[in-house]
Amino acid sequence: MRQPSARELRAVVFDLDNTLLRSSIGARRGLLIAAELISAELKKNGHLYGQRNLFKRLQLIDHEMLRRKYLYNRDVWWRTLLHKLGLGTRFPWIHRVTLRYWDAYAANSPPFLDAEPTLRKVKKMGLKIGLVSDSDGTPGMKSRRIREVRFHDLFQEVVVAGEDTPRVKPGHESFHLIAKKLDVQPRSCIYVADNPRTDIVGAQAVGMAAVIVKRRGNQGGNPDYRIPNLRALPGLVRTIQRAGG
Ligand SMILES: [Mg+2]
Repeated sequence: MRQPSARELRAVVFDLDNTLLRSSIGARRGLLIAAELISAELKKNGHLYGQRNLFKRLQLIDHEMLRRKYLYNRDVWWRTLLHKLGLGTRFPWIHRVTLRYWDAYAANSPPFLDAEPTLRKVKKMGLKIGLVSDSDGTPGMKSRRIREVRFHDLFQEVVVAGEDTPRVKPGHESFHLIAKKLDVQPRSCIYVADNPRTDIVGAQAVGMAAVIVKRRGNQGGNPDYRIPNLRALPGLVRTIQRAGG
């Protein structure tokens, strides 16, 4: 980790999934529901694939789409599965599976316990709060999920990358846009997030400092700072401000 560099902070911008929300259980529940629905639909046409089998295959596709391809449209995930099974492409029920997936995902992704208290502390410190989160691949879905977060009113501005901007993260446009919406210089912002692959280079490209909060299995990358949990954030903010002032 680098030494805190001089920076007059005016805003803290957060990522949503796995930073503020414990989304790993929701993601698993979503895939289980999808496997169940797809299994039932296929059965109607005489194709017998057990839920367990489909769930395992979907886990591999999830990994491939999130880690390598940055493809978040779940319709595409289910089509990829069906293509791999050699079952063609005409599935009028496919988007229904996506909607049920997101219902299960959202219902099982509660906030981390340190999320809301940290946001309130940061706000009390006089800093603006923003959110930059990638599109869920279904237009409007991420905005809906954000509105369902019980403390969403603490976000002064929100950018859904890939919907409000041409590219998802790590494209830099969403970071540029949130700074503009918050009416601050990007250099006066830190971006607090969990994923070294998507959450560092775009923020740094516009001049923000990238802070990675330790969540499950997220080593790597070259962030400006790492913190063990969100409770450590106010202390880091003070340290950066002291270095800057
Ligand atoms: Mg995340």
